[in-house]
Amino acid sequence: MTTEGASVLIRARMWIDGAERDAADGQTIDTFNPSTGEVLATLPRARAEDVEQAVASARKSFESGWGRLHGDERARILWRTGELITKHAAELARLEALDTGKPIGNALAIDVPRSAETFEYFSGWATKIHGETIPVKAPFLNYTLREPLGVVGAIIPWNFPLLLAARKVAAALAAGNTVVLKPPEEASLSCLALGRILLEAGAPPGTLNVVTGVGEEAGAALVAHPGVNKISFTGGTETGKHILRAAAATLKKVTLELGGKSANIVFADADLESAIPNAVRACFYNQGELCTAGSRLLVAESVLERVLDGVVSGTKAMRVGEPLDPKTQMGPLVSREHRDRVLGYIAKGEEGGATRMTGGPREGRGYYVEPTVFSGVTESMTIAREEIFGPVLSVITFKDEAEAARIADATEFGLATGLWTRDIGRAHRLAHQLKSGTVWVNGYNLFDAASPYGGYKQSGYGRENGFEVLRELTQVKSIWVGLK
Ligand code: NAD
Repeated sequence: MTTEGASVLIRARMWIDGAERDAADGQTIDTFNPSTGEVLATLPRARAEDVEQAVASARKSFESGWGRLHGDERARILWRTGELITKHAAELARLEALDTGKPIGNALAIDVPRSAETFEYFSGWATKIHGETIPVKAPFLNYTLREPLGVVGAIIPWNFPLLLAARKVAAALAAGNTVVLKPPEEASLSCLALGRILLEAGAPPGTLNVVTGVGEEAGAALVAHPGVNKISFTGGTETGKHILRAAAATLKKVTLELGGKSANIVFADADLESAIPNAVRACFYNQGELCTAGSRLLVAESVLERVLDGVVSGTKAMRVGEPLDPKTQMGPLVSREHRDRVLGYIAKGEEGGATRMTGGPREGRGYYVEPTVFSGVTESMTIAREEIFGPVLSVITFKDEAEAARIADATEFGLATGLWTRDIGRAHRLAHQLKSGTVWVNGYNLFDAASPYGGYKQSGYGRENGFEVLRELTQVKSIWVGLK
């Protein structure tokens, strides 16, 4: 990667077989700085031929490089990767802020350290994945081997490129697989830096290949490739369905982390001092470009006035600004197209009869949208049903626990739900009842590399993190031995 002049034009190259490469046909795509709208970087536009080379290199490392290393050697390299991410924290956070528009303070506090922790966590698993002995009838011995799948294709979106790549890559490598990573076309720079860091940590060439380009080209070629054993996808629900259909041709395994329309439920007995600022963060963290964004705030009628006042004043107080300013709390959205889509939803909210309490469009350069709160939202409104993936909060009231649970689950998604209550019985009752892959009680957006994470319903299937993801990145072989 080279940087030209003061205007920061980054000429990036991708990683195949341990070397930096341009696309075979020399084509490139441009990416934009969301805070200015100017070109930030040019990336190789990989197509089937480049993906072919990346898969061949991943296969070679699986068979004679990474795949041959003992777990303790893999563990050391993964741990070192975590250390190097920490060492390069300033560079990685800057790339992430420039590329995605997220505030650099958030990238330094969350994206980078969580990525390092993820490699450190999965480093521990590299020596602890094993089969079992099964007590079958004599005269036979039966045991299992838990084996890696081979080459894993990882496809990720632009909201947390480094962290989502870390989750997929660290887990796949810990289990003994090798990886071809297709970063998002809007923001690939931190993933390319990760390709370099893995090599610096001592991974054999081809263990992690990073192919940049367009989803329908490089991504589709990866999904179609018969030499890829599994696709681990995070992104939109429609793209996920498309990928699943395409993967059927080669029957490769697929896991899908898709969209959400999460409810954050505030009961009248909640600690409102904590619930109110958390409701603001739950929706507006990362510009609302978060699959678990608490975009539907369900509030008990009896505390509506206090919660709404607090949420609106907390939202107005958010510092929206330049991503590289350490004081910024919310940056621009990732692209012009996405900003326009989010503004379209704000218009639909008003047309649908909801009341805009604060927020809306923002004049000037860059893809900014003010954090926006709608009150008087009803379940049937578009803004209450569709994933906006931007800074738009819909406040909906409920009468009692049954109604809160019904509204929370009245969506095609099932990624995460937040509950704020001091009633421990209600908290567990609802946590068991809700059709949601994660339930947070008196907290929101809590994640840990050790804790399984994934969706119910159309939020996808499969789990990331913890041992659960390792089940999905390995296959079990049953071996019978006659003892006579
Ligand atoms: P997207 O689905 O448009 O793109 C995601 C990735 O898929 C990109 O790398 C893209 O290049 C690739 N892609 C696109 N078309 C493809 C195809 N035909 N074949 C193969 N790959 C293809 O999503 P996006 O707009 O970048 O991200 C936003 C979405 O991601 C939201 O719906 C959000 O909820 C979801 N998301 C989910 C999670 C989760 O963990 N559940 C986390 C973050 C984001």
